[in-house]
Amino acid sequence: MTTQHPDFDVIAIGAGFAGLGLIHYIREAGLSIRVFDRAADVGGTWTWNRYPGSMTDSESYYYCLTFSKELLQEWSWTARYPDWKETHDYMRFVADKCDMWPHIQLNTEITSAEYQKDTGHWLVTTGNGDSFTCKYFISGMGMISEPVIPKIKGMETFKGPLFHSSRWPQEGLDYAGKRVGIIGAGATTVQMLPVMSKTAESVTVFHRTSNFILPAMQKPMTPEWEKEIKENYDEIIAKCRNHVFGMAFDTADGRKAVETSPEERQRIFEEKWVGSFRWVFETFDDLLADPEANRMASQFIIDKMKERIEDPEIAEILVPKLEDYPLFAKRPPLDHGYLEAYSRDNVHLVDIKDREPIVEITETGVRTTENEFEFDIIVLATGFKAYTGALEAFPIRGAKGQTLAEKWKDESKSIMGVCVADFPNMFMVTGPQAPFANLPTSIEQNVIWITNCIKKMEREGYDVVKPRQDAEDAWTAHTAEIHDQTLMAEGGKVNSWMMGANLEGKAPRVLIYFGGANVYYDKMDESANQDYPELEFEKLAV
Ligand code: NAP
Repeated sequence: MTTQHPDFDVIAIGAGFAGLGLIHYIREAGLSIRVFDRAADVGGTWTWNRYPGSMTDSESYYYCLTFSKELLQEWSWTARYPDWKETHDYMRFVADKCDMWPHIQLNTEITSAEYQKDTGHWLVTTGNGDSFTCKYFISGMGMISEPVIPKIKGMETFKGPLFHSSRWPQEGLDYAGKRVGIIGAGATTVQMLPVMSKTAESVTVFHRTSNFILPAMQKPMTPEWEKEIKENYDEIIAKCRNHVFGMAFDTADGRKAVETSPEERQRIFEEKWVGSFRWVFETFDDLLADPEANRMASQFIIDKMKERIEDPEIAEILVPKLEDYPLFAKRPPLDHGYLEAYSRDNVHLVDIKDREPIVEITETGVRTTENEFEFDIIVLATGFKAYTGALEAFPIRGAKGQTLAEKWKDESKSIMGVCVADFPNMFMVTGPQAPFANLPTSIEQNVIWITNCIKKMEREGYDVVKPRQDAEDAWTAHTAEIHDQTLMAEGGKVNSWMMGANLEGKAPRVLIYFGGANVYYDKMDESANQDYPELEFEKLAV
């Protein structure tokens, strides 16, 4: 066993749910941990994404860490979906109550991480030039955190504030009475527009691909509802653990849209139209796998969207057509008044796909092929380099001297989204080829698996854990096989970030395990119960 001692047993990046979860579980294992974050506060996504209207699309009461029954009972959510501030406050509450702050170093960007073959340690360097060693290096950087900044001619010439939605000025930005341009029309814009348009002089959305938009149907948390939740938390947590999407949803019990009469199908679609992604999972079980069932669901959403949009010309742009792409090939946004916002006089929609593409950004606004628009503020709501972006943003160098970015040039391979071959003693929380699900559920499950693996290492005196190449090949093949059987595989046609198809210069790829989060959690448990057959454990000569 190596005699050299690292500065920390564990260094993790990202003080969001992953970082806080790691502090709890790693500390409980009796090991030292430091979590670095470049932000000025804990919160991860909910520190960065403070744009107007920013809120979770998961329901609040299971969008949380579950390791402490006391915390679950003490914290009170105010609504079905918390806004960014409330989730951020919750995360500060967790850090305070669990005395996590001594383990967190904020305002510190990690600029490189390099595996050291002789010791089995990682050398981690910060932007201020400091460096630290650790035995285990863990990314908790989030799967949707690295923004896509489009290359638009003249962008640097704009005189007013211009920034990505996830980099909303931390000190706030007064947009009341201002003319705002938003480029992009995904989940972020769907949340942002209804709030901004209430006080901005005008908001103009530059739109490319239409989305299937589901209603959120926000509602306040009542004392009765809160009581019911708090009396049933064990059941709620179990529901998340056993659900394909990691959410506390009921199932459709095997019911199939294609085997249901049109009248009954319509009745069920209507009855379950109660907001959130529940509708997709609680109506019928074949919506995401059977093209015919998918079309039935898509048509229902199309009709619902059209009912809520006053102007047929606007509807023509906003509402997808059946032949465009299947429901869920792009991640559907949840709506808090987005469609209705287009009835306001101060809201404008510009079709930059078929009618007037953007030519350039000028000193004063945006010029399309047909018009010139003047703005005080421009927001780039242009999405994220999902799953791999944060891990490729700075050099993370493994045992063969290769960086993750180099390794993933053509294919973003992993073992269950947590380990990568040739990157010993390194783990990722929800990396590529993990499922897309309620994130706190997946994050906590990953953190427990990682911690248990580390505990084995320490208990049995190992220095190095090496992810096996054959296990990585097998997981990648399995993930690709499942992916190809789903309708999500068509996301490549419509720039879906779920396949990295929104990234210029990169081929679309399989980024998500679509076999069901519950099946994935079972596989992870099986791996731990079988003593991690995907990994090789080694002792170094002293
Ligand atoms: P997104 O869904 O990827 O949407 C990006 C938008 O920008 C799309 O309309 C895209 O058009 C457009 N776009 C990209 N590059 C462009 C360019 N060069 N010129 C013009 N338009 C461009 O990104 P997002 O809205 O930030 O959401 C991403 C994901 O983050 C969501 O799906 C969700 O998982 C997560 N999110 C979650 C929440 C929540 O849970 N509360 C809130 C916001 C975001 P095309 O579609 O044509 O490419």
